[in-house]
Amino acid sequence: MLNQVITRQDFDRYMVPVFAPAAFIPVKGLGSRVWDQNDKEYIDFAGGIAVNALGHAHTVAINAVKEQAEKLCHIGNGYTNEPVLRLAKQLVESTFADKVFFCNSGAEANEAALKLARKVGRLSEIDGKNEIVAFHNSFHGRTLFTVSAGGQPKYSKEFAPLPDGIHHIAFNDLDAAKATINQKTCAVIVEPIQGEGGVIPADLDFLAGLRELCDQTGAVLIFDEVQTGVGRSGRLYAYMNSGIVPDILTTAKALGGGFPIGAMLTTNQFANQFAVGDHGTTYGGNPLACAVAGAVFSHINTPEVLNGVEERQKYFKNALYQLNEKHELFEVIRGDGLLIGCVLKEEFAGKAKDINKLAGEEGLLALVAGPNVIRFTPSLIIPFSDIDEGLKRFDHALARFVKSQKGE
Ligand SMILES: *Cc1c(COP(=O)(O)O)cnc(C)c1O
Repeated sequence: MLNQVITRQDFDRYMVPVFAPAAFIPVKGLGSRVWDQNDKEYIDFAGGIAVNALGHAHTVAINAVKEQAEKLCHIGNGYTNEPVLRLAKQLVESTFADKVFFCNSGAEANEAALKLARKVGRLSEIDGKNEIVAFHNSFHGRTLFTVSAGGQPKYSKEFAPLPDGIHHIAFNDLDAAKATINQKTCAVIVEPIQGEGGVIPADLDFLAGLRELCDQTGAVLIFDEVQTGVGRSGRLYAYMNSGIVPDILTTAKALGGGFPIGAMLTTNQFANQFAVGDHGTTYGGNPLACAVAGAVFSHINTPEVLNGVEERQKYFKNALYQLNEKHELFEVIRGDGLLIGCVLKEEFAGKAKDINKLAGEEGLLALVAGPNVIRFTPSLIIPFSDIDEGLKRFDHALARFVKSQKGE
């Protein structure tokens, strides 16, 4: 069985067709380089969608997996364990939070956050305080509740009837927020930078305004930092850039550096409104995931790594501006830290996927964020020489794209 030849056709034959993966199959990675079945090498600017924060096969993660796997992988939530308590303490000591709930993904972290907010609303004095305010174009995960909170109807409309009481308003529109958030609002959920929606940073005034409206109405302010968290923005969490502190923060993606884990962080005030039995998970907080996350988190939460993200962002963006002077394809290059979006000019709208495919052919793993944005979320410690090499390949892909457009 293990010796059987595996091909990309096996995906179409055996897999539920919710993804459309590239034509090649990666088989190994080291740092910011990846190799496919034919030994073709790729520079990795995708980082497993903002997950592989230390690149591939980092010794910190490998050693943590090995050490913990030999001791205790899973024990169930009838018992607590050392790695989970160590990681909870680390997260609390590094952020605004007092308490942590662990799960296995970003969607689950948001699911927990929204459920907690509903319970907080229910325990309040106000009748019917259960409405959730979310934003157009946002992404919060794929469970029914989180996909309904997300502001992209294409992901939820096939699954109606959807959970009730969710209002979507324009992102970065404080007037709309003022008109919508009221005493019946139990939660406002927002990404400090919309990731999947196109790498769109929230305005500082907007976040400050949401904080104020939540304070006035007693709504819980939830920052979805699943994509922006764990150093991605150049700070440990993006809220630290804005100075606006949420009541609940959700984190996943880079938290395990490639090992699945998610968490919901909150203050005592809100955490204590959940009681034993209110929420749960079988795998959440298992020792193996928490040991790996603990090691990865400690390594990232240092001035060397976090300052390095800033340096890399400057270097990366400068090089991208130069590429754009040559090819003139992008309207704007935006984002914080190593969450970078290149927005296509109007005339190339809808072509991000085509460019991404050419990048793959040239030996570069990149991402899109919607139809018009090329997105880069590389390792936070990607060597500068790999940035150079990756952008050289991106240059080739863009040249081919420009040529194909002229040929049309
Ligand atoms: C990826 C993402 C999620 C969903 O995380 P999963 O681990 O795929 O469930 C939620 N919110 C944001 C902002 C994300 O980028």
